[in-house]
Amino acid sequence: MSTKNYYDVLGVAKSATADEIKKAYRTMALKYHPDRNPDNKEAEEKFKEAAQAYEVLSDENKRHQYDQMGHAGYENMNSMGGGHQGSNMNMDDIFGAFGDIFGDIFGGQQQRSARKKGPQPMRGHDLSKEITISLKESYLGTKKEISYYHFATCNTCKGSGAKEGTKPQSCTKCNGQGQINLRQGFFVYQQTCDACQGQGFIITSPCPTCNGRCREKTFAKFSVTIPQGIYDNAELRISGKGDAGIYGGSSGDLYLKIHIAPDKNFTRVGDDIECSVMLTYPQLVFGAQIEIENIDETKLAVKIPKGCAVGERIVIPGKGFSALRGNTRGNLIIITRCHIPKKLSTEAKDALVTYADLIGNETQDGSSIASFFKKFLG
Ligand SMILES: [Zn+2]
Ligand SMILES: [Zn+2]
Repeated sequence: MSTKNYYDVLGVAKSATADEIKKAYRTMALKYHPDRNPDNKEAEEKFKEAAQAYEVLSDENKRHQYDQMGHAGYENMNSMGGGHQGSNMNMDDIFGAFGDIFGDIFGGQQQRSARKKGPQPMRGHDLSKEITISLKESYLGTKKEISYYHFATCNTCKGSGAKEGTKPQSCTKCNGQGQINLRQGFFVYQQTCDACQGQGFIITSPCPTCNGRCREKTFAKFSVTIPQGIYDNAELRISGKGDAGIYGGSSGDLYLKIHIAPDKNFTRVGDDIECSVMLTYPQLVFGAQIEIENIDETKLAVKIPKGCAVGERIVIPGKGFSALRGNTRGNLIIITRCHIPKKLSTEAKDALVTYADLIGNETQDGSSIASFFKKFLG
């Protein structure tokens, strides 16, 4: 609650005429008008403060009372009453109460002061759904059928909520305003109209299909294109597939969260795709030309260099994921592994023992490699 004297707020003398007060308020209100100071909390406060001051000083009775009780006394008394005054006022109240003072300066924007009679458009809710696709589908892009329940516009009444041939009636209790003015003592506050729940209108003969709710719960299906390169936990916004709006309001959106099931052969790392390839010891030693199959089943010839280590990363450029944004592509990364046979033929075993003896003799420290092989091959 403001502690500032209302005369100071408007910058007028205590003896100011009604005209001077109006002029001062108009200047303040235009200066701090929310349309001229978007998202400026300070301006909004000043605007409300000025409106609060003007509300009192523009009313002969209130002004008299205010002059007699002083600022603190007047505010105290009001705070016990309606609770609507002062800083609790919202912008609509201000425009509703003093909209006319802006004259034609804000022209069409005065619309916001007066509630339109009849149903107001309301946007439908956003919905969300989750689906799981394979890593391959995320690599290639895919189309999926989505089925879900949502509120769709009632076909019978086309969303009006009223029975055929009837119309929603303007609420007589609040005169279509949705709010009623309650007088308590010498000030007035507003309350949501209980007859129409603040809507300003009443549907007297509701549509039998939707019972006046304008929408019906509907099972729907549609097909959605999931772009290539989509990553795990990405969310796609599907415009207009949420709940239908009412009274001409737009539909909400459907947020589709994508989960990607792990693949047993491939892993995504950034926009790269990684897989490992099993090679024999001789292939690693001598080098090899092998063929591998990418996740999209395309075959690629890969050259394993001579003397290749285990865990070497062989990069095949441009064969990874398409970046979701931009038109770059990641790489395919092949990680070399060595296949260790569990069983060997007698000949292979003999050859390996011979080999072990040979390299064992050649090693510097003499001990390790040959005995290491022997221990296992025995
Ligand atoms: Zn209906
Ligand atoms: Zn009403």
